[in-house]
Amino acid sequence: MDQKVQEIVADLKAYLEYLKGMGIEALPVAEKKVEKMTPSEALTLAPTLEEVRKELGDCKRCKLHRTRTTIVFGEGNKEAKLMFIGEGPGYDEDVQGRPFVGKAGQLLTKIIQSIHLEREGVYIANIIKCRPPQNRNPEPDEIGSCSPFLMKQIQAIQPKIICALGTFAAQTLLQTDAKISSVRGRTFDLEGIKVLPTYHPAFLLRNPDKKREVWEDMKQIAGWLAEEEKKV
Ligand code: URA
Repeated sequence: MDQKVQEIVADLKAYLEYLKGMGIEALPVAEKKVEKMTPSEALTLAPTLEEVRKELGDCKRCKLHRTRTTIVFGEGNKEAKLMFIGEGPGYDEDVQGRPFVGKAGQLLTKIIQSIHLEREGVYIANIIKCRPPQNRNPEPDEIGSCSPFLMKQIQAIQPKIICALGTFAAQTLLQTDAKISSVRGRTFDLEGIKVLPTYHPAFLLRNPDKKREVWEDMKQIAGWLAEEEKKV
């Protein structure tokens, strides 16, 4: 061991002995706040969804709180095997406080139904929970403040599969700068959860020719869900 390190260790030992002599047996360790955690750290905790919602509170952790109407926490089956994660609330979601209820949301509902699932059977959330002004892209600080709460939601739900909708969901969950076109349809692992990025429904509304690829991804997901059913 380096001389300096040895001295520090010896000092620390002596200090701990001193504290022990004073009757102090344990040191308080400050709990790390969820917004300071990396996605992987947040994922190792297992709160309930109610606890995550309570911790989020009337969130003012980023500038989006100034312009939002409602926090869009997420909704669906608390024990869902499958989660869909989008980018962030748009106009309709901001007004109603529910994810994916506008035009893109209606398409997402149809996509879910295309593999014979009910919207209520899955869990739907977003990378950020407050609408950016004029639906601009989420900024890195906003994603940084908000995504640890999503990671805690994932930990609470413990899905087997996550379908990441669009660039921001894929990039945040996979911690990559890759374009959605290069990761779409590929399978990734997030702490034991299968992550399949696909195109965002809003993109499909503008590019209906891409629906075929999303259909391929949905068939993949349906296959995994069937395998999961066999396990129980
Ligand atoms: N787009 C998203 O990414 N999320 C929503 O909730 C609605 C539209």
